[in-house]
Amino acid sequence: MFLKRIELSGFKSFADRTELEFVRGITAVVGPNGSGKSNISDGIRWVLGEQSAKSLRGGKMEDVIFAGSDARRAVNYGEVSLTLDNTSQSLPLDFNEVTVTRRVHRSGESEYLINKQPCRLKDITELFMDTGIGKEAYSIIGQGRIEEILSTKSEDRRGIFEEASGIVKYKSRKREAEKKLSDTEQNLLRIHDLVSELE
Ligand code: ATP
Repeated sequence: MFLKRIELSGFKSFADRTELEFVRGITAVVGPNGSGKSNISDGIRWVLGEQSAKSLRGGKMEDVIFAGSDARRAVNYGEVSLTLDNTSQSLPLDFNEVTVTRRVHRSGESEYLINKQPCRLKDITELFMDTGIGKEAYSIIGQGRIEEILSTKSEDRRGIFEEASGIVKYKSRKREAEKKLSDTEQNLLRIHDLVSELE
């Protein structure tokens, strides 16, 4: 599986629809300071579900929408789409190409799509779980992240190995199941109380 294409529109410095095609092998993005190189990796993390405006180098989520320049007016929404080659079927979808899209409007409304079909953020997170791709996964190493990984707590470092070994999905499902069990236990207790009141 590899990243084939990224399309940005109204996202940060990319006012117009901009499409970057990647080929197999190494791709380097070069350009002068402030030309938008890091905005591309921000776009990748954003579409994968990044919710922290700070980690996208902004103050609030609206800051990812093109804010205007001397030559151009601001736009009303920002959108990023990632297209991954899925011929190896690494992603559990019966398509050779998978495109995930995230769109945000100035009103704050957010939309997520998988192959143009509206979905929830959870669907995107689950799709990429254990693949090494994801906003926190090891496939995106930002500036300063290597030092952060080395100096971080051992439990946090363990998270990286868990993602690589493919067990995050099961841990997440276990957490959901435990929550459902505890909710059900609470409901049962309430029913017992009601029954003993009626008796
Ligand atoms: P460096 O080499 O210095 O790290 P870079 O090529 O990585 O630079 P970025 O940090 O990606 O550059 O881009 C910064 C530019 O993006 C700045 O000029 C900033 O004004 C612009 N920018 C960021 N957010 C927005 C926005 N919402 N609207 C318009 N422009 C934006």
